[in-house]
Amino acid sequence: MRLEHAGTEYLPVQIEIKDKSLMMIFLLEECNFTCAHCLRSDEPMDPGYKLSFRQLQLCLADCQGLESVRWVHFSGGEPTLWTERNRNLVDLLLEISKAGFTPGFTTNGSFFVDYSRCQQFFGKYLDDSSIPLRVYFSLDTFHHNFDVEKGRAESLDNVIKLKQELPRVKADLLDIAVIAVISKDLESLLPDEMIGHYESLGIAFSFVPLAPRGRAKTLSHLCPDPGSDNPDKLGAYQRFHRKESREKADKTRNRYRTDHIILIGDNYYFADPWHKVAQLGHMPDTIIRTYSSPVRGSC
Ligand code: SF4
Repeated sequence: MRLEHAGTEYLPVQIEIKDKSLMMIFLLEECNFTCAHCLRSDEPMDPGYKLSFRQLQLCLADCQGLESVRWVHFSGGEPTLWTERNRNLVDLLLEISKAGFTPGFTTNGSFFVDYSRCQQFFGKYLDDSSIPLRVYFSLDTFHHNFDVEKGRAESLDNVIKLKQELPRVKADLLDIAVIAVISKDLESLLPDEMIGHYESLGIAFSFVPLAPRGRAKTLSHLCPDPGSDNPDKLGAYQRFHRKESREKADKTRNRYRTDHIILIGDNYYFADPWHKVAQLGHMPDTIIRTYSSPVRGSC
């Protein structure tokens, strides 16, 4: 399909979309970590960029017109750092829930190391919403956000403790998962006991290969090649190498495949490579038609 837009800035592209149920929003550029594998420098976010509450509302109105979108998810930067006047991330998540979408965010977990803040954050959400909340913890050896000796993460332990204290009907609304980046290096693996412990408590893990993008360009010698079956090119990532990984790698060879649509500020993008495809509040008919089917597919 050719995407058309009146503005010359919005490049016409032919593209295949992996997940049309997801609206990804890059919420802010700020982060309190300095991970060696951070992708932000390759993403079209200006230093200090922050989405406004008003921009989220406009995006949700756009989502109402995109039939396949079910889930609105924040990435960053670190989403828990977002504030605007007296609002914080929970207010944004509740706004998404009020609009009828499943809210979610990815976090480095630092906010949840304090148990009382963890209680207040999720308590406020659960008091006002009955829609599940997806929380993805980026937890791996690059983030340095767990105790390597003990194989435990305080942030995750606090959320699990909270879930155990909540009534079942509320606890079930907190959908917690871990995303771990794995390089070729065996040292990048999470301890098996740690994975087993958290999986036994209902936490799902997914493992993604270190990609030579952003700051990780300097670590390209450690990046697995998920398009290969060669154990030398996969290294420690070999045990997680599945068909989905090969599909992802194929994407990097095909300029016109993307995972999902992404909002940054006033613009919607498809990534890898980055293309502006629409302006906030002004979805072209071609995008609306593309997202009119709830089934996964290509356009
Ligand atoms: S990878 Fe995530 S947690 Fe680490 S510096 Fe980048 S945005 Fe922050």
